[in-house]
Amino acid sequence: MSACSSSQGSSWAPSSTSPSQKHSKRAHKDKDHKELIIPRKKYLTRSVHRRRRERQPQVPASLLEEKGLLRPDPKFWFSDDGDVTLVIDNVKFRVHKKKLESSGGMYMLAADLAGEKHDGDIGRLHNTKLTVFRYLLALIYDEVVLSATLPNGKPWLYWDLVVSLIHICQWQALDPIRLKIIEALETIFPSKGVPAPFMPIIGGIDDPSRRERFYRTFPIEILNIFAQHDYYHDYIAHLPMIYYHAAQLPVDDIINGVQDGDKILKLTEPRDIAIILKGREELMRARREVSFRWLEERLSRYGPQKASEECKETCQQGGEYCYKFLQKLMGQFRTSGFLDSRPNALEGLNDDAKVLFKDYLCDKCYDDVIADANEGIEESWDSLPGYFGLEPWKMIIDKQSKALTFEDAHREPTPEPDYLLYHRLMG
Ligand SMILES: [Zn+2]
Repeated sequence: MSACSSSQGSSWAPSSTSPSQKHSKRAHKDKDHKELIIPRKKYLTRSVHRRRRERQPQVPASLLEEKGLLRPDPKFWFSDDGDVTLVIDNVKFRVHKKKLESSGGMYMLAADLAGEKHDGDIGRLHNTKLTVFRYLLALIYDEVVLSATLPNGKPWLYWDLVVSLIHICQWQALDPIRLKIIEALETIFPSKGVPAPFMPIIGGIDDPSRRERFYRTFPIEILNIFAQHDYYHDYIAHLPMIYYHAAQLPVDDIINGVQDGDKILKLTEPRDIAIILKGREELMRARREVSFRWLEERLSRYGPQKASEECKETCQQGGEYCYKFLQKLMGQFRTSGFLDSRPNALEGLNDDAKVLFKDYLCDKCYDDVIADANEGIEESWDSLPGYFGLEPWKMIIDKQSKALTFEDAHREPTPEPDYLLYHRLMG
């Protein structure tokens, strides 16, 4: 499937909006309300209006259909062989029960009700946002993917789609989709594999200014979703890298938020701010004492020419011995604050540095230094969850996999799934 092109230019799916998740949380409290048409529109301001609409039940889908006020979705209206009709706001979807079933959870039950027992019924999905449901259908119908590997081997991630679907997956118990979300999150917040802050290509963001600020906003965006619905536990294996990326922000941004277009995006959970600030300190320490420990160790252990046990003690480029090069390097690091002022403990020697080291160190020292440097980064990676007050990798990965199914997590059943809010077509 054409993963990337198809998901970027979809006219029906706005790529830059991350829908507010508040609506559905509130909506399920309205389960006891009877369907009523509230005729007091005239005297309400627009914002009051919006609030009212959220609190009060909508016009029955059947009534809208009768008056010809329901319009078919331009994309998901399979008039020929669709066997389930679902309604959100004044848009109706005619889709395939089998496809809905593949997403699991509550929509499967909804499909059961709408498809088998009441064939031809119109089912209103009260707790599902229109945009989010379209995203979901696009995913179910393989119109889009959440993540992919590009032909050049780089990971690709449809960020907006992933964050939009997190809540609906938890809320409607869509475990198969949640697995895909976790697979996608692994590309940006890895919990296993190479300890490199390797960022995927982010798809679906056409606005260049948003693309630019994405790298400051993304950890805050996802943490705020977790905070709003308390999903930390369900995605706990991704938390160390989410916190790591958040910790790369300047302290002021962590505390006061970052500029995101014309608004400020701020961490909503004070505990997150405290965790990130503390972890940031740990990361700065780890960069000096763990990731780059090899440098100080070598300088204290070897010399005056040798920089490793088996150093060839021959002059390298620049006419100096290996030890002298490392000494100068340390001097530069001290002057620039390279080891003391940055929280990027997972970033080791980049390719440029390796080329330089190759020229200024003998073969033996070079191999030794590279091996040591890699070991340091791995040690920082192993300690990463601990820097943010989390249990070791193995335990949090285990916890997350147990949270995969709602039964295993001993989760309370979703209090008000959509299928209970079905309304039969009135004659
Ligand atoms: Zn040497």
